[in-house]
Amino acid sequence: TKIIAFESSADETSVAIVEDGHIVLSNAVATQINSHQRFGGIVPEVASRHHIEWITRVLDDALDAAQVRPEDLDGVAVTYGPGLVGSLLVGLMGAKTFALAHDLPIIPVNHLAGHIAAANFNVPIIYPALALMVSGGHTELVLMTSENNFAVLGETRDDAAGESFDKVGRLLKLPYPAGKTIDEMAHRGQATIKFPTAMAHEDNYDFSFSGLKSAVINYVHHAEQKGETIDHNNLATSFQNAVVDALIGRTRKALKDYDVKSFVLAGGVAANRQLRDELDVLLSQFPKTTFIPVPREYTGDNAAMIGAAGYWNFKQHIFAGLDLNTNPGLDFELLNK
Ligand code: ATP
Ligand code: MG
Ligand code: FE
Repeated sequence: TKIIAFESSADETSVAIVEDGHIVLSNAVATQINSHQRFGGIVPEVASRHHIEWITRVLDDALDAAQVRPEDLDGVAVTYGPGLVGSLLVGLMGAKTFALAHDLPIIPVNHLAGHIAAANFNVPIIYPALALMVSGGHTELVLMTSENNFAVLGETRDDAAGESFDKVGRLLKLPYPAGKTIDEMAHRGQATIKFPTAMAHEDNYDFSFSGLKSAVINYVHHAEQKGETIDHNNLATSFQNAVVDALIGRTRKALKDYDVKSFVLAGGVAANRQLRDELDVLLSQFPKTTFIPVPREYTGDNAAMIGAAGYWNFKQHIFAGLDLNTNPGLDFELLNK
């Protein structure tokens, strides 16, 4: 089964062709990060315009690279949420047009399911599975009893993990998005500052990162007032430690409470080296659970992951008509709520 997939929920315009949900035949990605850097974040209006400029070129690239003709395809997967409405609409229109022109079914895909499904590019997810979804907009512990079956155990009450990296980056005047840069700086620094690990003692699976962000801001402003210089690498290490501690703590609790066969690490923040290393160590204490991190090259936004999740829907005959609309606030259901 060959699926062509469209992704345009934020600032990446991407089209991919994926076979049987796990073989990436092509994955064309155009990123517009440069256009947003001077604003320190995504400007929705600018993002939509870029998607419109890039989508046909990215589509051609994906078809060329895969050496696949439209008549070889079985379906068109597309992200319909969550994300920016004006951005989502461009991918949706592209997918609908392609589907109509080539008489293919439309497969609606949840962007977050896509992030998780990308673990299948590593090894097939084994169920039941626990997934830690850490991205620019979401931080969730998700229980999967089978393919396409998601229940949220806990989520962030304020900022997402990636968002906290980006906000601290902004404070340190680093280019947006700052996660990758802070990751590298943290590698060079020492954990000289003790920041609080939010909610470390609470009996649930939720996260909170805005207190940590405020602590970092206060620390920097305080030092500035006293005329002290700060070692930014040490600050990065100390901040990243606090984020990783929080993620590890909740994950440990969930792994103890739920007997899962695999643990998936997904989302843009899943590229973080310290997080991957510490989860490796944690999972060695749970020998019956296989650690399946999304391959680093597929942790950020891309259409291949949408093709992977699209295959789950395809198998369950989850299709949509040309009236499919965007759902900017789409999320998984909370367990027991
Ligand atoms: P969502 O998926 O929730 O809709 P998004 O698509 O904008 O949000 P992603 O593209 O999945 O988010 O991830 C981007 C985020 O990942 C950014 O916040 C970025 O700073 C962060 N990030 C990327 N690489 C790293 C890294 N090595 N360490 C920490 N964070 C990282
Ligand atoms: Mg992005
Ligand atoms: Fe994403």
